[in-house]
Amino acid sequence: NPVTGKYTVPFIEGDGVGPEISKSVKDIFAAAKVPIEWEPCDVGPIFVNGLTTIPDAAVQSINKHLVALKGPLATPIGKGHRSLNLTLRKTFNLFANVRPARSVPNYKTTYQNVDLVLIRENTEGEYSGIEHVISPGVIQSIKLITKDASERVIRYAFEYTRAIGRPRLVVVHKSTIQRMADGLFVNVAKELASEYPDIELQTELIDNTILNVVTHPESYTDAVSVCPNLYGDILSDLNSGLSAGSLGLTPSANIGDKVSIFEAVHGSAPDIAGQNKANPTALLLSSVMMLNHMGLNEHATKIENAILSTIASGSENRTGDLAGTATTSSFTEAVINKL
Ligand code: NAD
Repeated sequence: NPVTGKYTVPFIEGDGVGPEISKSVKDIFAAAKVPIEWEPCDVGPIFVNGLTTIPDAAVQSINKHLVALKGPLATPIGKGHRSLNLTLRKTFNLFANVRPARSVPNYKTTYQNVDLVLIRENTEGEYSGIEHVISPGVIQSIKLITKDASERVIRYAFEYTRAIGRPRLVVVHKSTIQRMADGLFVNVAKELASEYPDIELQTELIDNTILNVVTHPESYTDAVSVCPNLYGDILSDLNSGLSAGSLGLTPSANIGDKVSIFEAVHGSAPDIAGQNKANPTALLLSSVMMLNHMGLNEHATKIENAILSTIASGSENRTGDLAGTATTSSFTEAVINKL
């Protein structure tokens, strides 16, 4: 906004615990004097010709402002419409899902010093939704891999690796079995590698990756990993479990050609909604990724340090999911005091 000097960011607060954890983000951003004005964004859903879509006003707002922050959206089971999360991904062509998974200093989980960054192809592979009944009891399910989508996500992964100053990009695959599909993914990475001489490209079979991550997670602290859709879905949850012991601390970014949407990995937590119990950390760390994406790095670092030092400061400042006694609002207060 040329008048206020602030950025406008659409905010989809989401369902269940969404409004509570969104309030925490707003309060902390206001206290940290981040130059952002939030624009409430309602993503529907509406149904057109049997298809789920989101309201035009939301699409226009996100397209205009290029970034959005998103709380969890509940997906009603068996109501016959596509998940809103999938709808958002398709609407804005959010082709790369970036999932960092880092241990929190002084918060003890099974593993310490985990610092993994995974980039998942977000548009095709096993999620193309192409399945057929060949004959009764025989199903064919198609994994679609294209050169264009592979190139787009792998190029983004090279750029991201360079931007965060890591020397290594690991392509995770199973081209020994999926010779053509994963073979294409790996070959695209090898072709692109010549454009990134400062980054070492490694290829690794998914089963080896799983074993290595579980036994030596610290061996990936100098790397970024990139993989096709389904492997990324599974591996990113494994990484979250290793780093934080839960999804409750894991942020993510959905990167598109034009628009990027930042969101917590967890769902709407209906079991604790409205009880001031939810941990806002995952949404807060997603908002920190958004600030870095926008170039507001100083604000990002200040807020991230306040969050991590609050969690480190003891169980009275941790929410119930981290075996602490804090509420959403008392945790938020503690973070504000650390800013
Ligand atoms: P969930 O992540 O909502 O909850 C799983 C468990 O984790 C629950 O016990 C919950 O209380 C706990 N939890 C989650 N977030 C927490 C937080 N911030 N603080 C403390 N505890 C937290 O998963 P679910 O129950 O499978 O899904 C509930 C709804 O959310 C479903 O409708 C699902 O479709 C939707 N969902 C949305 C997204 C998204 O919007 N990206 C992601 C996953 C699930």
